[in-house]
Amino acid sequence: EETSEAHNPIAIAETGSETDLLWDISLRARIDEAMEAGEIYCVYQPKIDLASKSMVGVEALVRWHDPARGFISPLHFIQQCEKAGRMEHLTRYVLQSACSAGQLLHFRGRTISMSVNISATLLGDMRVVGLVRNVLQATRFDPQYLTLEITETARISDHNVASSILQELRSIGVRIAMDDFGVGAASYEAFYELPFDEIKIDRLFITNIAKDPKARAIVSSIAAMGREARITVVAEGLENPQDIALLEHVGCQQVQGFAFSRPLSLSNLLEYQDFTSDRAIANMV
Ligand code: C2E
Ligand code: MG
Ligand code: MG
Ligand code: MG
Repeated sequence: EETSEAHNPIAIAETGSETDLLWDISLRARIDEAMEAGEIYCVYQPKIDLASKSMVGVEALVRWHDPARGFISPLHFIQQCEKAGRMEHLTRYVLQSACSAGQLLHFRGRTISMSVNISATLLGDMRVVGLVRNVLQATRFDPQYLTLEITETARISDHNVASSILQELRSIGVRIAMDDFGVGAASYEAFYELPFDEIKIDRLFITNIAKDPKARAIVSSIAAMGREARITVVAEGLENPQDIALLEHVGCQQVQGFAFSRPLSLSNLLEYQDFTSDRAIANMV
């Protein structure tokens, strides 16, 4: 049969083999249970201000550790979550964890911002505004320290609707970031039409910044655009510490990547020492 999956590369790409499909179905069925059991949780990756080299915020990144199957890739289970119609539920769970963690950090005297990834598919109706408002009220986290990173902006079907939702969120006091800027999923069109306070330059360009003049030109022009438009520019996925000076030179304000820190558990985050304070302590002894 011509229409069978085996002859249709698109169907294979989407569903994989039959066992993959069964695995995904059981994954979808377990999402709620996994949240309740604490198998799904957040880790937090520091965002570093390049001028001061201090941590000014963290990004909450969701993890699923299944006792039987081990770690499940976030990109994969988020996709399954969408298919199962559980995206709102997962987002509420992540927001709650992240804002509670943020509140704890503030209580300990570390007044940094908390970024949470929001799937663009949630920008189709106003319910997401109520969701964010409820979590902020329940956790008492100060809205001005919450940044919502919009991922996969290409999937926003109606820019007018999304724009009014983002404006509504900003009126609560939260900041809006455009994630993965510069790659297919995040276009200049979306950047132009939607209200953003921050752009995160995709790792693709950051990885190649030292060896490729084109990557350097792209990062430099995005940084210039950010200055002009008064938008915070964050470099994502910096691995090589030798490239830090280069990012400073082109005018990125913040950087996030393994060069500074991998994502941390909440308890490791509470212990996190700034590069600057490390150095200060080293200078004292
Ligand atoms: P993202 O929001 O662009 O997050 C950055 C990803 O890059 C994270 O992968 C992070 O661990 C990784 N990363 C950070 N620094 C480096 C580096 O120096 N080198 C390399 N190789 N990687 C680095 P992760 O945690 O696997 O998340 C992947 C994507 O899944 C995220 O990309 C985001 O789009 C999505 N995601 C994660 N958590 C959530 C969530 O709670 N909700 C939603 N909707 N999406 C989420
Ligand atoms: Mg992100
Ligand atoms: Mg990103
Ligand atoms: Mg990404």
